[in-house]
Amino acid sequence: MLPIDALPQDDPTPGWFHTSQKRTPKPPLQGNASARFAVIGGGFTGLAAARQLAQNFPNDTVILIEGQQVGFGTSGRNAGFLIDVPHDISSPDYIGDPKIAKQILELNQTGQKILFDLVQQHNIVDAQLRHVGKYQAAVEDEGVRVLEAYRGGLEKLGQPAELIDGKDLPGIVGSHFYKKALHTPGTMLVQPSGLVKGLADSLPANVQLFEDMPITAIEYGAKTVLHHASGTVTADTLVLANNHFGTHFGFMHQRILPMFTYGSLTRPLTAEEQARIGGKDFWGIIPADPFGTTSRRTHDNRILIRNSFTFNADGRFKEGATERFRKAHRLSFERRFPDIKDVPFEYTWGGGLGMTRNGNSFFGELRPNVYGALGCNGLGTVRGTAMGTLLADLIAGKRHPLSDFLLSVEKPNMNPPEPFLSIGVNFTLRRGMANAGMEA
Ligand SMILES: Cc1cc2nc3c(=O)[nH]c(=O)nc-3n(C[C@H](O)[C@H](O)[C@H](O)COP(=O)(O)OP(=O)(O)OC[C@H]3O[C@@H](n4cnc5c(N)ncnc54)[C@H](O)[C@@H]3O)c2cc1C
Repeated sequence: MLPIDALPQDDPTPGWFHTSQKRTPKPPLQGNASARFAVIGGGFTGLAAARQLAQNFPNDTVILIEGQQVGFGTSGRNAGFLIDVPHDISSPDYIGDPKIAKQILELNQTGQKILFDLVQQHNIVDAQLRHVGKYQAAVEDEGVRVLEAYRGGLEKLGQPAELIDGKDLPGIVGSHFYKKALHTPGTMLVQPSGLVKGLADSLPANVQLFEDMPITAIEYGAKTVLHHASGTVTADTLVLANNHFGTHFGFMHQRILPMFTYGSLTRPLTAEEQARIGGKDFWGIIPADPFGTTSRRTHDNRILIRNSFTFNADGRFKEGATERFRKAHRLSFERRFPDIKDVPFEYTWGGGLGMTRNGNSFFGELRPNVYGALGCNGLGTVRGTAMGTLLADLIAGKRHPLSDFLLSVEKPNMNPPEPFLSIGVNFTLRRGMANAGMEA
């Protein structure tokens, strides 16, 4: 039996969770249960895998297990960008090999379409989904150069992208801070916690969801036995959809790293404050520099700021981190919106990304009857949804060109052992954040 030596524990102040509709979580299982399928992880990936397994095997039960509440973990803590276009920071035009870029575009669009259709089908109003595109914005010359190169790459890929001059941006995003922005129209924006809560509450009847039920130990064999606080779940087939926590289940050791990034939400702006900044009432900006600042104006007229990274090797939040990064967020907010600089933040939180060095995820079989869709990096809303769905199809024997693509790419690659790992990652993060300059 393998004890799970790191269990999820996120900070208590995720803004999207607290400002979305309250729901009653499904209670944890008391005692033992068995089913043909078990899925661990109630984020985008696990919700998609459980839904598709249930549809592929309508006469079987799928047990979906979440260690916290649905909407409280990383899937409910992100910035809510459902991004379609690829962005490969290792390539000069940010697109790289067009064959791979096309597959990634298709993968992202598949995830987007699944989420869009589910929101319509189940009337998930609290997802606050709007198809408005995104602005990738630059403050410094280097950032502008990135946008120009990326526009060329997107053009090669046949994807629309419009460069917008800084003087036109205040009328759009209410800020004079940026020099230029690249608008790509395919992105959708959501209230991420409202969306995943809605996905959980619209699962097919043959999915049994248990929340607040961390799996604390696992036994692999002809069947897999999962241990929880008051008993076991026995499954013929297991799907690991728990992102970097999958590495504590005996797979991908040190290949998927828990990197935390942080967000803050202001209180809703008053009508007078909204008028003071101007611009459209709903937009999203991602930075030209990967260590820069993401910001959004939300459906309820709050401003979101996201930046800063830490490496939390056990995948859990660290005391004091939100207070520390709230200060960084304050500075970023005041630079962008000096006219409303006194508007306070109501929430600050962090969330763990499952990052891989080569940017690839794990997708496929980990051992007989154990499958994984793990390590979504910074784009798990759409990628996790697509991978969870495709994995459930793979288990049902349905092949798709996109699953062939995912199976063919290099797996997440190995990192050096500790203490070199922490030293190296912390150095890279500190250097990246320092070099982001005014983009942060
Ligand atoms: C601040 C922030 C901003 C981001 N912005 C974006 C964005 O705009 N767009 C985008 O696409 N992505 C974004 N991301 C990344 C995105 O949130 C992740 O890629 C996505 O959540 C991954 O989904 P997942 O379902 O694979 O994993 P997760 O959301 O991490 O879900 C895994 C679940 O497994 C559960 N779990 C773990 N171990 C156990 C166990 N032992 N027993 C039971 N349950 C367990 C956890 O509690 C967790 O809820 C952002 C992330 C952060 C933190």
